[in-house]
Amino acid sequence: MGETTKKTINTIKRGFSLILEILFPSKCLGCRKGGQILCENCIDGLRLAERPTEEKIMALYDYRDPLIKKAIWKLKYYHSPYLGRKLGELLYSSFLEEIQSLRMFSAGSPIYIVPVPISNDKRKVRGYNQSEIIAKGFCNFADTNLFTIKKDIIYKKANTVPQARIENRNKRLKNIKGAFEIKDAEQIMGKTIIIIDDVTTTGGTLGEMIKLL
Ligand SMILES: [Zn+2]
Repeated sequence: MGETTKKTINTIKRGFSLILEILFPSKCLGCRKGGQILCENCIDGLRLAERPTEEKIMALYDYRDPLIKKAIWKLKYYHSPYLGRKLGELLYSSFLEEIQSLRMFSAGSPIYIVPVPISNDKRKVRGYNQSEIIAKGFCNFADTNLFTIKKDIIYKKANTVPQARIENRNKRLKNIKGAFEIKDAEQIMGKTIIIIDDVTTTGGTLGEMIKLL
């Protein structure tokens, strides 16, 4: 076999295993144990967020936990949608009680799930909106007709500076003010809505969306 052919085969093999890794993640992000993207043991060890974060805003894990930080970073920059779906699943199973009370409140009409939108530029670079992927995982395990994902209700107008880069709380709130717009206000009249984001810090983004919706 010639050198070039060998090289080509190796490149193809590498490409193939990379594709498999994306489609069927084989190792835990925390302990490298085979089988799942996050194993039960590592999930049990995750540091929980102190609740409630802000009024009407709830977080599941503490971002200071190194494994959570790694997971979010991987979800955002390494094209790992399966990781987002897993996080969505964890979010759903951890907030069952809260979801039950919203279910009573919505009285049989589907609860709208609204992922926090990202700008078109970011979507182009990343290929997907990470909050949307989490939202999909969140809806996956629910009873049919309990949730309806609404990706087109609200959109991001301006390309704001990423919230995480701003240290000062007031500056953060100012940065996000007026960044979103509702497309068709009528469709949300009288609806129960859950907004899903990957990370919340001062609640600026979520607060702004809650106000608007
Ligand atoms: Zn693990």
